[in-house]
Amino acid sequence: MQQITVLGATGSIGSSTLDVIARHPNEYEVFALTAHSRVNELAQLCRRHRPRYAVVGTAVDARKLQRLLNGQGCEVLYGEQGLNQVASASEVDTVTAAIVGAAGLAPTLAAIRAGKKVLLANKEALVMSGALFMQAVQEHGATLLPIDSEHNAIFQCLPCNYQEGLPQTGVRRLLLTASGGPFRETTLSELAQVTPEQACAHPNWSMGQKISVDSATMMNKGLELIEACWLFAASPGQVDVVVHPQSIIHSLVDYVDGSVLAQLGNPDMRTPIAHALAWPARIDSGVQPLDLYQLARMDFFEPDLEKFVCLRLAREAAEQGGTAPAVLNAANEVAVAGFLGGQAGFLQIAQIVQRTLEQADICAADSLDCVLDADRQAREIASQWLARMS
Ligand code: NAD
Ligand code: MG
Repeated sequence: MQQITVLGATGSIGSSTLDVIARHPNEYEVFALTAHSRVNELAQLCRRHRPRYAVVGTAVDARKLQRLLNGQGCEVLYGEQGLNQVASASEVDTVTAAIVGAAGLAPTLAAIRAGKKVLLANKEALVMSGALFMQAVQEHGATLLPIDSEHNAIFQCLPCNYQEGLPQTGVRRLLLTASGGPFRETTLSELAQVTPEQACAHPNWSMGQKISVDSATMMNKGLELIEACWLFAASPGQVDVVVHPQSIIHSLVDYVDGSVLAQLGNPDMRTPIAHALAWPARIDSGVQPLDLYQLARMDFFEPDLEKFVCLRLAREAAEQGGTAPAVLNAANEVAVAGFLGGQAGFLQIAQIVQRTLEQADICAADSLDCVLDADRQAREIASQWLARMS
Protein backbone atom coordinates (compact mmCIF):
# COMPACT_ATOMS: atom_id res chain seq x y z
CA MET A 1 0.00 0.00 0.00
CA GLN A 2 1.51 3.34 -1.08
CA GLN A 3 1.01 6.26 1.31
CA ILE A 4 0.26 9.55 -0.43
CA THR A 5 0.30 13.17 0.67
CA VAL A 6 -1.67 15.58 -1.52
CA LEU A 7 -0.47 19.18 -1.11
CA GLY A 8 -3.24 21.43 -2.43
CA ALA A 9 -5.97 18.79 -2.14
CA THR A 10 -8.87 21.23 -2.61
CA GLY A 11 -7.56 22.47 -5.97
CA SER A 12 -8.18 21.27 -9.47
CA ILE A 13 -5.08 19.01 -9.58
CA GLY A 14 -5.74 17.88 -6.00
CA SER A 15 -9.25 16.73 -6.84
CA SER A 16 -8.11 14.94 -10.04
CA THR A 17 -5.41 13.19 -7.99
CA LEU A 18 -7.94 12.04 -5.39
CA ASP A 19 -10.22 10.80 -8.17
CA VAL A 20 -7.43 8.58 -9.55
CA ILE A 21 -6.40 7.37 -6.09
CA ALA A 22 -9.98 6.42 -5.21
CA ARG A 23 -10.10 4.12 -8.28
CA HIS A 24 -7.30 1.99 -6.78
CA PRO A 25 -8.10 1.45 -3.10
CA ASN A 26 -5.83 -1.60 -2.88
CA GLU A 27 -2.76 0.27 -4.12
CA TYR A 28 -2.96 3.76 -2.64
CA GLU A 29 -3.88 5.21 0.72
CA VAL A 30 -4.17 8.93 1.52
CA PHE A 31 -1.76 9.88 4.30
CA ALA A 32 -2.37 13.66 4.38
CA LEU A 33 -4.47 16.30 2.65
CA THR A 34 -3.74 20.02 2.73
CA ALA A 35 -5.66 23.19 1.87
CA HIS A 36 -5.11 26.88 2.38
CA SER A 37 -8.46 28.30 3.53
CA ARG A 38 -11.26 26.15 2.10
CA VAL A 39 -11.85 24.38 5.41
CA ASN A 40 -15.33 23.05 4.67
CA GLU A 41 -14.18 21.49 1.42
CA LEU A 42 -11.17 19.95 3.12
CA ALA A 43 -13.43 18.51 5.84
CA GLN A 44 -15.52 16.84 3.14
CA LEU A 45 -12.42 15.40 1.49
CA CYS A 46 -11.20 14.11 4.85
CA ARG A 47 -14.50 12.32 5.45
CA ARG A 48 -14.25 10.65 2.06
CA HIS A 49 -10.52 9.78 1.98
CA ARG A 50 -9.77 9.31 5.70
CA PRO A 51 -6.23 10.76 5.87
CA ARG A 52 -4.09 10.47 9.03
CA TYR A 53 -3.29 14.23 8.83
CA ALA A 54 -4.96 17.35 7.46
CA VAL A 55 -3.20 20.71 7.14
CA VAL A 56 -4.69 24.20 6.81
CA GLY A 57 -3.21 27.72 6.74
CA THR A 58 -3.84 29.09 10.22
CA ALA A 59 -4.43 28.03 13.83
CA VAL A 60 -7.98 29.43 13.65
CA ASP A 61 -8.80 27.31 10.60
CA ALA A 62 -7.15 24.30 12.26
CA ARG A 63 -9.55 24.57 15.23
CA LYS A 64 -12.48 24.93 12.84
CA LEU A 65 -11.43 21.82 10.93
CA GLN A 66 -10.93 19.91 14.17
CA ARG A 67 -14.52 20.72 15.18
CA LEU A 68 -15.82 19.68 11.77
CA LEU A 69 -13.90 16.38 11.92
CA ASN A 70 -14.70 15.70 15.54
CA GLY A 71 -13.91 12.08 16.44
CA GLN A 72 -12.67 11.03 13.05
CA GLY A 73 -9.11 10.31 14.16
CA CYS A 74 -7.49 12.75 11.77
CA GLU A 75 -4.78 14.94 13.26
CA VAL A 76 -5.02 18.59 12.20
CA LEU A 77 -1.88 20.71 11.64
CA TYR A 78 -1.38 24.19 10.24
CA GLY A 79 1.05 26.55 8.53
CA GLU A 80 4.31 25.93 6.75
CA GLN A 81 5.55 23.63 9.51
CA GLY A 82 2.48 21.43 9.12
CA LEU A 83 2.95 21.29 5.34
CA ASN A 84 6.63 20.39 5.68
CA GLN A 85 5.82 17.70 8.22
CA VAL A 86 3.30 15.85 6.03
CA ALA A 87 5.50 16.30 2.94
CA SER A 88 8.50 14.64 4.59
CA ALA A 89 7.01 12.16 7.11
CA SER A 90 8.79 8.81 7.08
CA GLU A 91 5.53 6.88 6.39
CA VAL A 92 4.97 8.75 3.11
CA ASP A 93 5.98 7.26 -0.26
CA THR A 94 4.58 9.82 -2.70
CA VAL A 95 3.84 13.54 -2.50
CA THR A 96 1.67 15.32 -5.06
CA ALA A 97 2.89 18.94 -5.18
CA ALA A 98 -0.28 20.76 -6.26
CA ILE A 99 -0.19 24.01 -4.30
CA VAL A 100 -0.37 27.01 -6.62
CA GLY A 101 2.49 29.51 -6.75
CA ALA A 102 5.55 30.23 -4.62
CA ALA A 103 3.69 29.03 -1.50
CA GLY A 104 4.38 25.47 -2.68
CA LEU A 105 8.16 25.81 -2.74
CA ALA A 106 8.98 24.97 0.89
CA PRO A 107 6.87 21.81 1.26
CA THR A 108 7.89 20.56 -2.21
CA LEU A 109 11.55 20.99 -1.28
CA ALA A 110 10.87 19.28 2.04
CA ALA A 111 9.49 16.26 0.15
CA ILE A 112 12.51 16.21 -2.15
CA ARG A 113 14.96 16.46 0.75
CA ALA A 114 13.20 13.51 2.36
CA GLY A 115 13.85 11.51 -0.85
CA LYS A 116 10.19 11.07 -1.75
CA LYS A 117 8.62 10.32 -5.07
CA VAL A 118 7.32 13.78 -5.97
CA LEU A 119 4.56 14.28 -8.54
CA LEU A 120 5.14 17.87 -9.61
CA ALA A 121 2.28 20.13 -10.70
CA ASN A 122 3.53 23.23 -8.84
CA LYS A 123 5.66 24.55 -11.71
CA GLU A 124 6.23 27.92 -9.98
CA ALA A 125 8.41 26.20 -7.33
CA LEU A 126 10.70 24.76 -10.01
CA VAL A 127 10.77 27.99 -12.03
CA MET A 128 11.86 29.96 -8.95
CA SER A 129 14.65 27.74 -7.79
CA GLY A 130 15.40 25.29 -10.62
CA ALA A 131 19.13 24.79 -9.98
CA LEU A 132 18.71 24.22 -6.22
CA PHE A 133 15.63 22.10 -6.77
CA MET A 134 17.30 19.74 -9.26
CA GLN A 135 20.44 19.57 -7.12
CA ALA A 136 18.32 18.54 -4.12
CA VAL A 137 16.67 15.82 -6.23
CA GLN A 138 20.14 14.39 -7.02
CA GLU A 139 21.52 14.74 -3.51
CA HIS A 140 18.60 13.14 -1.73
CA GLY A 141 17.75 10.47 -4.30
CA ALA A 142 14.21 11.79 -4.79
CA THR A 143 12.19 10.75 -7.83
CA LEU A 144 10.71 13.75 -9.61
CA LEU A 145 7.89 12.99 -12.03
CA PRO A 146 6.13 15.77 -13.94
CA ILE A 147 2.34 15.87 -14.02
CA ASP A 148 2.12 19.10 -15.96
CA SER A 149 0.63 17.51 -19.08
CA GLU A 150 3.28 18.82 -21.51
CA HIS A 151 6.20 17.67 -19.39
CA ASN A 152 4.58 14.38 -18.66
CA ALA A 153 4.15 13.92 -22.42
CA ILE A 154 7.81 14.77 -23.07
CA PHE A 155 8.88 12.42 -20.28
CA GLN A 156 6.86 9.64 -21.96
CA CYS A 157 8.47 10.38 -25.37
CA LEU A 158 12.10 10.72 -24.23
CA PRO A 159 14.51 7.76 -24.31
CA CYS A 160 14.92 6.17 -20.87
CA ASN A 161 18.58 7.30 -20.70
CA TYR A 162 17.76 10.98 -21.45
CA GLN A 163 19.56 12.02 -18.28
CA GLU A 164 22.87 11.37 -20.09
CA GLY A 165 22.06 14.53 -22.07
CA LEU A 166 19.64 15.37 -24.87
CA PRO A 167 22.18 15.56 -27.78
CA GLN A 168 23.96 12.43 -26.47
CA THR A 169 20.71 10.48 -26.66
CA GLY A 170 19.72 11.70 -30.12
CA VAL A 171 17.20 14.37 -29.11
CA ARG A 172 17.24 17.50 -31.30
CA ARG A 173 14.58 19.54 -29.51
CA LEU A 174 11.52 19.46 -27.32
CA LEU A 175 8.24 20.77 -28.72
CA LEU A 176 5.87 22.16 -26.12
CA THR A 177 2.30 22.39 -27.34
CA ALA A 178 0.06 25.27 -26.24
CA SER A 179 -3.68 25.57 -26.75
CA GLY A 180 -3.30 29.33 -27.24
CA GLY A 181 -5.87 29.88 -24.47
CA PRO A 182 -9.22 31.65 -24.74
CA PHE A 183 -7.74 34.69 -26.59
CA ARG A 184 -5.93 32.95 -29.43
CA GLU A 185 -8.04 34.78 -31.97
CA THR A 186 -8.69 37.97 -29.97
CA THR A 187 -7.01 41.09 -31.37
CA LEU A 188 -4.52 43.08 -29.33
CA SER A 189 -6.92 46.03 -29.01
CA GLU A 190 -9.74 43.75 -27.81
CA LEU A 191 -7.37 42.20 -25.23
CA ALA A 192 -7.24 45.49 -23.34
CA GLN A 193 -10.90 45.05 -22.38
CA VAL A 194 -11.14 41.36 -21.43
CA THR A 195 -12.49 40.44 -17.99
CA PRO A 196 -11.20 37.89 -15.44
CA GLU A 197 -14.25 35.78 -16.21
CA GLN A 198 -13.37 35.64 -19.92
CA ALA A 199 -9.72 34.94 -19.10
CA CYS A 200 -10.65 32.03 -16.83
CA ALA A 201 -12.94 30.38 -19.42
CA HIS A 202 -10.34 28.08 -20.95
CA PRO A 203 -11.57 26.29 -24.10
CA ASN A 204 -10.13 22.84 -23.26
CA TRP A 205 -9.10 22.57 -19.61
CA SER A 206 -10.87 23.28 -16.33
CA MET A 207 -8.21 24.64 -13.94
CA GLY A 208 -7.58 26.94 -10.99
CA GLN A 209 -7.90 30.70 -11.60
CA LYS A 210 -4.21 31.57 -11.54
CA ILE A 211 -3.12 29.02 -14.14
CA SER A 212 -6.20 29.89 -16.23
CA VAL A 213 -5.06 33.52 -16.43
CA ASP A 214 -1.50 32.31 -17.13
CA SER A 215 -2.87 30.28 -20.03
CA ALA A 216 -4.71 33.32 -21.35
CA THR A 217 -1.52 35.47 -21.30
CA MET A 218 0.58 32.46 -22.39
CA MET A 219 2.78 33.06 -19.35
CA ASN A 220 1.85 29.48 -18.53
CA LYS A 221 3.76 28.34 -21.61
CA GLY A 222 6.65 30.59 -20.62
CA LEU A 223 6.78 29.04 -17.14
CA GLU A 224 6.56 25.63 -18.79
CA LEU A 225 9.49 26.45 -21.07
CA ILE A 226 11.60 27.16 -17.97
CA GLU A 227 10.17 24.05 -16.28
CA ALA A 228 11.19 21.92 -19.29
CA CYS A 229 14.74 23.32 -19.24
CA TRP A 230 15.21 22.20 -15.63
CA LEU A 231 13.42 18.86 -15.83
CA PHE A 232 15.19 17.67 -18.97
CA ALA A 233 18.50 19.61 -18.78
CA ALA A 234 17.62 21.48 -21.97
CA SER A 235 18.78 24.94 -23.00
CA PRO A 236 16.00 27.44 -23.85
CA GLY A 237 17.09 27.16 -27.50
CA GLN A 238 16.25 23.44 -27.44
CA VAL A 239 12.60 24.10 -26.52
CA ASP A 240 10.11 25.34 -29.11
CA VAL A 241 6.47 26.27 -28.54
CA VAL A 242 3.77 25.15 -31.00
CA VAL A 243 0.19 26.37 -30.76
CA HIS A 244 -2.18 23.42 -31.12
CA PRO A 245 -5.73 24.55 -30.29
CA GLN A 246 -7.26 21.06 -29.86
CA SER A 247 -4.96 20.11 -26.92
CA ILE A 248 -4.82 16.48 -28.03
CA ILE A 249 -1.07 16.27 -28.59
CA HIS A 250 0.34 17.17 -25.18
CA SER A 251 3.92 17.71 -26.45
CA LEU A 252 6.53 16.14 -28.74
CA VAL A 253 10.19 15.12 -28.90
CA ASP A 254 12.11 15.69 -32.13
CA TYR A 255 15.02 13.25 -32.73
CA VAL A 256 18.09 13.74 -34.95
CA ASP A 257 16.98 10.97 -37.31
CA GLY A 258 13.81 12.91 -38.18
CA SER A 259 11.51 10.92 -35.91
CA VAL A 260 9.07 13.01 -33.90
CA LEU A 261 7.37 11.23 -31.00
CA ALA A 262 4.21 12.66 -29.50
CA GLN A 263 1.91 11.74 -26.63
CA LEU A 264 -1.81 12.11 -27.38
CA GLY A 265 -4.90 11.89 -25.24
CA ASN A 266 -8.07 13.68 -24.25
CA PRO A 267 -7.35 16.88 -22.28
CA ASP A 268 -7.88 15.47 -18.79
CA MET A 269 -5.21 15.82 -16.09
CA ARG A 270 -6.06 12.39 -14.69
CA THR A 271 -3.94 10.85 -17.50
CA PRO A 272 -0.60 12.46 -16.53
CA ILE A 273 -1.47 12.04 -12.83
CA ALA A 274 -2.17 8.31 -13.24
CA HIS A 275 0.95 7.92 -15.37
CA ALA A 276 3.18 9.48 -12.72
CA LEU A 277 1.43 7.79 -9.81
CA ALA A 278 1.88 4.27 -11.19
CA TRP A 279 5.08 4.83 -13.21
CA PRO A 280 6.54 2.70 -14.69
CA ALA A 281 3.28 0.70 -14.60
CA ARG A 282 0.03 1.87 -16.22
CA ILE A 283 -3.30 2.11 -14.41
CA ASP A 284 -6.85 3.13 -15.25
CA SER A 285 -7.35 6.89 -14.83
CA GLY A 286 -11.05 7.19 -15.62
CA VAL A 287 -10.26 9.17 -18.79
CA GLN A 288 -12.31 8.40 -21.90
CA PRO A 289 -10.38 6.73 -24.74
CA LEU A 290 -9.37 9.11 -27.52
CA ASP A 291 -11.74 8.99 -30.50
CA LEU A 292 -9.68 9.94 -33.57
CA TYR A 293 -12.70 9.78 -35.92
CA GLN A 294 -14.48 12.34 -33.83
CA LEU A 295 -11.36 14.50 -33.52
CA ALA A 296 -10.91 14.42 -37.33
CA ARG A 297 -8.23 17.13 -37.51
CA MET A 298 -5.43 18.83 -35.62
CA ASP A 299 -4.03 22.31 -36.29
CA PHE A 300 -0.66 23.88 -35.53
CA PHE A 301 0.48 27.53 -35.50
CA GLU A 302 3.46 29.59 -34.49
CA PRO A 303 2.83 31.61 -31.29
CA ASP A 304 2.25 35.36 -31.73
CA LEU A 305 4.91 36.97 -29.51
CA GLU A 306 3.68 40.51 -30.21
CA LYS A 307 0.36 39.64 -28.66
CA PHE A 308 1.59 37.23 -25.99
CA VAL A 309 4.44 39.32 -24.57
CA CYS A 310 4.64 37.13 -21.43
CA LEU A 311 5.91 34.19 -23.47
CA ARG A 312 8.72 36.33 -24.86
CA LEU A 313 9.58 37.68 -21.38
CA ALA A 314 9.75 34.15 -19.98
CA ARG A 315 12.07 32.98 -22.75
CA GLU A 316 14.33 35.97 -22.09
CA ALA A 317 14.33 35.24 -18.34
CA ALA A 318 15.23 31.61 -19.09
CA GLU A 319 18.16 32.78 -21.23
CA GLN A 320 19.27 35.30 -18.62
CA GLY A 321 19.17 32.67 -15.85
CA GLY A 322 20.07 33.37 -12.20
CA THR A 323 17.17 34.87 -10.29
CA ALA A 324 15.48 36.23 -13.46
CA PRO A 325 12.92 33.36 -13.57
CA ALA A 326 12.14 33.89 -9.85
CA VAL A 327 11.57 37.59 -10.52
CA LEU A 328 9.40 36.82 -13.55
CA ASN A 329 7.33 34.39 -11.49
CA ALA A 330 6.87 36.68 -8.48
CA ALA A 331 5.92 39.69 -10.62
CA ASN A 332 3.47 37.53 -12.53
CA GLU A 333 1.84 36.26 -9.31
CA VAL A 334 1.32 39.85 -8.15
CA ALA A 335 0.06 41.02 -11.55
CA VAL A 336 -2.36 38.10 -11.97
CA ALA A 337 -3.78 38.65 -8.47
CA GLY A 338 -4.17 42.33 -9.41
CA PHE A 339 -5.98 41.43 -12.61
CA LEU A 340 -8.28 38.97 -10.81
CA GLY A 341 -8.97 41.62 -8.16
CA GLY A 342 -9.90 44.25 -10.74
CA GLN A 343 -6.88 46.52 -10.08
CA ALA A 344 -5.15 45.87 -13.41
CA GLY A 345 -6.20 45.29 -16.99
CA PHE A 346 -5.23 42.14 -18.86
CA LEU A 347 -2.44 43.78 -20.89
CA GLN A 348 -0.98 45.31 -17.75
CA ILE A 349 0.02 41.84 -16.52
CA ALA A 350 2.84 41.73 -19.10
CA GLN A 351 3.71 45.38 -18.45
CA ILE A 352 4.10 44.79 -14.71
CA VAL A 353 6.26 41.71 -15.33
CA GLN A 354 8.43 43.57 -17.84
CA ARG A 355 8.94 46.63 -15.61
CA THR A 356 9.79 44.42 -12.64
CA LEU A 357 12.37 42.47 -14.66
CA GLU A 358 13.94 45.76 -15.76
CA GLN A 359 14.15 47.12 -12.22
CA ALA A 360 14.98 44.10 -10.08
CA ASP A 361 18.55 43.10 -9.24
CA ILE A 362 19.24 39.82 -11.00
CA CYS A 363 21.91 37.69 -9.36
CA ALA A 364 23.09 34.08 -9.24
CA ALA A 365 20.41 31.79 -7.79
CA ASP A 366 22.91 29.80 -5.75
CA SER A 367 21.13 29.69 -2.41
CA LEU A 368 17.55 29.53 -1.26
CA ASP A 369 18.03 32.88 0.51
CA CYS A 370 19.01 34.56 -2.80
CA VAL A 371 15.91 33.14 -4.47
CA LEU A 372 13.61 34.19 -1.63
CA ASP A 373 15.18 37.69 -1.57
CA ALA A 374 14.64 38.02 -5.32
CA ASP A 375 11.05 36.84 -4.89
CA ARG A 376 10.45 39.40 -2.12
CA GLN A 377 12.03 42.30 -4.00
CA ALA A 378 10.12 41.46 -7.19
CA ARG A 379 6.81 41.38 -5.27
CA GLU A 380 7.55 44.84 -3.86
CA ILE A 381 8.41 46.33 -7.25
CA ALA A 382 5.45 44.67 -8.95
CA SER A 383 3.06 45.84 -6.21
CA GLN A 384 4.26 49.43 -6.71
CA TRP A 385 3.59 49.18 -10.44
CA LEU A 386 0.22 47.65 -9.76
CA ALA A 387 -0.69 50.52 -7.42
CA ARG A 388 0.47 53.05 -10.02
CA MET A 389 -1.57 51.43 -12.78
CA SER A 390 -4.84 51.00 -10.90
P1 NAD B 1 -6.15 25.61 -7.65
O1 NAD B 1 -6.22 27.07 -7.44
O2 NAD B 1 -7.32 24.88 -8.16
O3 NAD B 1 -5.67 24.91 -6.29
C1 NAD B 1 -4.60 25.41 -5.55
C2 NAD B 1 -4.40 24.63 -4.26
O4 NAD B 1 -3.32 25.24 -3.54
C3 NAD B 1 -5.61 24.64 -3.32
O5 NAD B 1 -5.73 23.39 -2.70
C4 NAD B 1 -5.26 25.70 -2.29
O6 NAD B 1 -5.83 25.44 -1.03
C5 NAD B 1 -3.75 25.57 -2.21
N1 NAD B 1 -3.10 26.83 -1.83
C6 NAD B 1 -3.26 28.05 -2.43
N2 NAD B 1 -2.50 28.98 -1.80
C7 NAD B 1 -1.87 28.35 -0.79
C8 NAD B 1 -0.97 28.78 0.24
N3 NAD B 1 -0.57 30.06 0.36
N4 NAD B 1 -0.52 27.85 1.13
C9 NAD B 1 -0.92 26.56 1.03
N5 NAD B 1 -1.77 26.09 0.08
C10 NAD B 1 -2.24 26.98 -0.81
O7 NAD B 1 -4.88 25.37 -8.62
P2 NAD B 1 -4.63 24.18 -9.66
O8 NAD B 1 -5.23 24.53 -10.97
O9 NAD B 1 -4.97 22.86 -9.04
O10 NAD B 1 -3.06 24.29 -9.85
C11 NAD B 1 -2.15 23.84 -8.85
C12 NAD B 1 -0.75 23.82 -9.43
O11 NAD B 1 -0.71 22.88 -10.50
C13 NAD B 1 -0.32 25.17 -10.05
O12 NAD B 1 1.05 25.34 -9.83
C14 NAD B 1 -0.58 24.98 -11.52
O13 NAD B 1 0.27 25.75 -12.33
C15 NAD B 1 -0.28 23.50 -11.69
N6 NAD B 1 -0.96 22.86 -12.83
C16 NAD B 1 -2.32 22.83 -12.86
C17 NAD B 1 -2.97 22.25 -13.94
C18 NAD B 1 -4.48 22.15 -13.99
O14 NAD B 1 -5.00 21.53 -14.90
N7 NAD B 1 -5.20 22.71 -13.06
C19 NAD B 1 -2.23 21.69 -14.97
C20 NAD B 1 -0.84 21.73 -14.89
C21 NAD B 1 -0.21 22.32 -13.81
MG1 MG C 1 0.67 22.44 -18.74
